[in-house]
Amino acid sequence: MFSDKISDLFTAQVTEWQLAGDNYRLLQKVKTRHFDFGGFEVLVQFNPERMVSSAAKVDSGSVGSRPCFLCQKNRPPLQRGVRFESDFTVLVNPFPIFNRHLTIPSDEHTDQRIRYNFGKMLSLAESLPAYIIFYNGPECGASAPDHFHFQAGNRDLIPLEKDFSSGRFAEIIFSRKGVEVWLWRNYLRGIISLSSAGREPLETMFHMIFERFSALQPGLPEPMMNILTYKTGQSWIVHIIPRKQHRPAQYSAEGKDRLIISPASVDLGGVVITPREEDFRKITTGDLTDIFRQVCWPDDELHHVISDLK
Ligand SMILES: [Zn+2]
Repeated sequence: MFSDKISDLFTAQVTEWQLAGDNYRLLQKVKTRHFDFGGFEVLVQFNPERMVSSAAKVDSGSVGSRPCFLCQKNRPPLQRGVRFESDFTVLVNPFPIFNRHLTIPSDEHTDQRIRYNFGKMLSLAESLPAYIIFYNGPECGASAPDHFHFQAGNRDLIPLEKDFSSGRFAEIIFSRKGVEVWLWRNYLRGIISLSSAGREPLETMFHMIFERFSALQPGLPEPMMNILTYKTGQSWIVHIIPRKQHRPAQYSAEGKDRLIISPASVDLGGVVITPREEDFRKITTGDLTDIFRQVCWPDDELHHVISDLK
């Protein structure tokens, strides 16, 4: 099975590649704070190794002048991969948030765009049922917006998963051709979820939603979004988190108001990463609420955008 090959890759890489071995060992001692929002939790993880990602300069000047770390020719010699289908490679992420954290780049050095790659995401979820697969848009947390890639982490870390299955925050607003379309309420972040056992209708619904947001953000290379997906039983669950902003005001604030938080799929799924200890210590429920509101859409606006797709 494909999953077994990935397990073997992990076992091998944490012994033969010191950077990975050290960082997965450090992760065992990672500090986490739990914030209670009355019915759901947001976790904050103090993870200094993630500074490289959170503070990544992703403007085209900076990206163009560095060697791309996802291209095979620039990867560390000790980083090995396992092929996925004919055009992707699964790698162990050496700067983990999850006990099992993968980076899955395309073979080609091509821009981060989901439009023609959503089906690949479903295939990965099918082949790696123990993982949640996620996509960060080019201005939504991807630290390599110039090289197409997904990431994946072991299931059951991200609170979004259990908060969806509890049925307490998301409700079905309509069903179409075997796809249930859900909208979250009172969860600080507007989220649209899709569930279906049918690949084609799921892809069609995703593209209809994608086009809607595309029309609303016409100046951008693609509508801003984070996407997380996994398979439970026969069904795929897809969480789409449309975005309004790349980084919150706190990211570029000065002095005590500064918080180095660059929200991406994992953060918006409920595990907020703080690479600086001072931010980890001082962050409050008020800050988390404020950051989510700045970068995400409110529930009612999302409802307005998609309700007539029925
Ligand atoms: Zn590249």
